[in-house]
Amino acid sequence: MRESRHVGTTARPGGEGPPVFSERLTVVLDAIFEGEAPNAGRFCGNCYTPVDTERASCMHCNSSVDESRPVEKVPRDILAMFQQLRRRESLVVNSFAYAGMLAAVMIFIGVFYLLFITNAGVWWYVFDIVLLFVLARVLAGLVGGFIGDEVGYRYSRRKLAEEWETYEAERDGAERDCAD
Ligand SMILES: [Zn+2]
Repeated sequence: MRESRHVGTTARPGGEGPPVFSERLTVVLDAIFEGEAPNAGRFCGNCYTPVDTERASCMHCNSSVDESRPVEKVPRDILAMFQQLRRRESLVVNSFAYAGMLAAVMIFIGVFYLLFITNAGVWWYVFDIVLLFVLARVLAGLVGGFIGDEVGYRYSRRKLAEEWETYEAERDGAERDCAD
């Protein structure tokens, strides 16, 4: 669900400019990590978006193949950055899901306390337990799936944009050194 909504919408901080990893690259990287595709092909030398052989420039970042020569593999650093991106996303989503479960437990305890002080009948306690299970599921899903998803998405993309900036500066710096 998360993937289909967010694939390729990687935005730079502030939401301006093109995403760091293009939609096509995101799909390819996911496939590489799933073991469904080899890390081989023709990738843009600037942003690593797959570039078809007949194309003279990248669809995503517009750099021409003369400007930055296509590479045959996605560099290791990019794979690591992508893995980090996915890890951060799921870490945030899971944390929010646990927070939702915790909220369900707090509600359970609150209701339990009310039942206790009002001398409620035993069926009310059964109801409270059922409520706990239902709320734990629903709140974990809602809090993790909606709030966590949104926060995780923003957070992981912001981090990626920072990492990309550092990576790009180092890469282009190294290229300049070679050219001198
Ligand atoms: Zn590109």
